[in-house]
Amino acid sequence: MDRPHNDQRLSFKGFYLLGWASRVSNRIFSGRYAKTIARLQSELNQKEAVIQEQASALIHSRKIFDRSSAAARLGVWQCRLPDNTLEWTDVVYDMFDLPRGSNLDRNEIVKCYSEASARELNTLRSKAIAERNGFTMDAEIITAMGNRRWIRITATVECEENMPVRIFGIKQDITDEKIMKDRTQYLAAFDVMTGLANWAQFQSKLGEFCTDYGRGTTPTALILVDLDGFKTLNDTFGHSAGDDCLRETARHLEHVCAQAALIARIGGDEFAILVSEDRDSVSNIARKIVGALYRPVHVEGRYVQIGASVGIAFMDGSTPSDLFKKADVALYAAKAAGRNTFKISEDADGSLVRRAIDAA
Ligand code: GH3
Ligand code: MG
Repeated sequence: MDRPHNDQRLSFKGFYLLGWASRVSNRIFSGRYAKTIARLQSELNQKEAVIQEQASALIHSRKIFDRSSAAARLGVWQCRLPDNTLEWTDVVYDMFDLPRGSNLDRNEIVKCYSEASARELNTLRSKAIAERNGFTMDAEIITAMGNRRWIRITATVECEENMPVRIFGIKQDITDEKIMKDRTQYLAAFDVMTGLANWAQFQSKLGEFCTDYGRGTTPTALILVDLDGFKTLNDTFGHSAGDDCLRETARHLEHVCAQAALIARIGGDEFAILVSEDRDSVSNIARKIVGALYRPVHVEGRYVQIGASVGIAFMDGSTPSDLFKKADVALYAAKAAGRNTFKISEDADGSLVRRAIDAA
């Protein structure tokens, strides 16, 4: 039998040695590094737990954001530049009455804005991009379903290497706030029953007229109107019939004084008109008012004669309150002269005017 060759003997030995080394190293490895592996494994587990915790915190935050943004009617939008690719959160889709997640074409969206709002939006947007800053504006939109809404837009331009790459921000539905604000402004300046200006707006306009006195060439006048026998109408037919009569009076005044700078209801059955006309025209207007408001009012089968007395004061540099007193004295003079007529302050008893102003 051939004895193994020397080289063959060596490779057997080598193989044996290799196996031995591996067994030793395994033993050393598993003994010496077992703790390290366990430590690393536990760190890994801890990190995994932290990631899981963070993921669920993120889901929770997302839920809170979605709920509060829906409650506040507030959504997030972004537009990539320069290709104008739009992206919205669900609330913005709802605001525009568009299906959530549907494709957005900026040119089509801009068509939802009222003409004035679209113009303002384009100006502010271009300026913000050019200056790399942002803007805020309130815009009026008509949604895909024809609903009119007001939205507040805030926008910020984001740059990379000083090049604008994105414009993004928030859109909030402020329709209710806008309606409330408009209503408050309306109530502060108008009489709800007749729709005419109220005492506050009249006072402010009278102040402006008196300040501007002498700057224009046309004389300006204050005309006061008070219904005659209005109490009898109220007493006979009730307050509601009286209210109808006040509304009707307002319509007559708007018709007769179409060119007036202001027509106001300043008290129960008292109205004030500010006009910029020459003296003859003012007298003419007063005559027409008296004629239009002199009528029998027919309610529930009965007639009550109603009419109006008118007092006029022309601006002469007096303060607003003195001018008002002059017109009021002229009105008193018209009542004293038998009602259903008009008087001009200068024609009224001068001593009456003086006394009224001095007594104030
Ligand atoms: P005169 O001819 O002297 O002007 O007297 P009058 O009967 O017209 O009564 P007056 O101008 O002195 O008083 C106005 C009345 O208007 C008093 C009040 O009862 C009534 N009035 C005030 N506000 C309202 C209102 O909002 N609706 C109704 N229906 N009546 C009102
Ligand atoms: Mg009256």
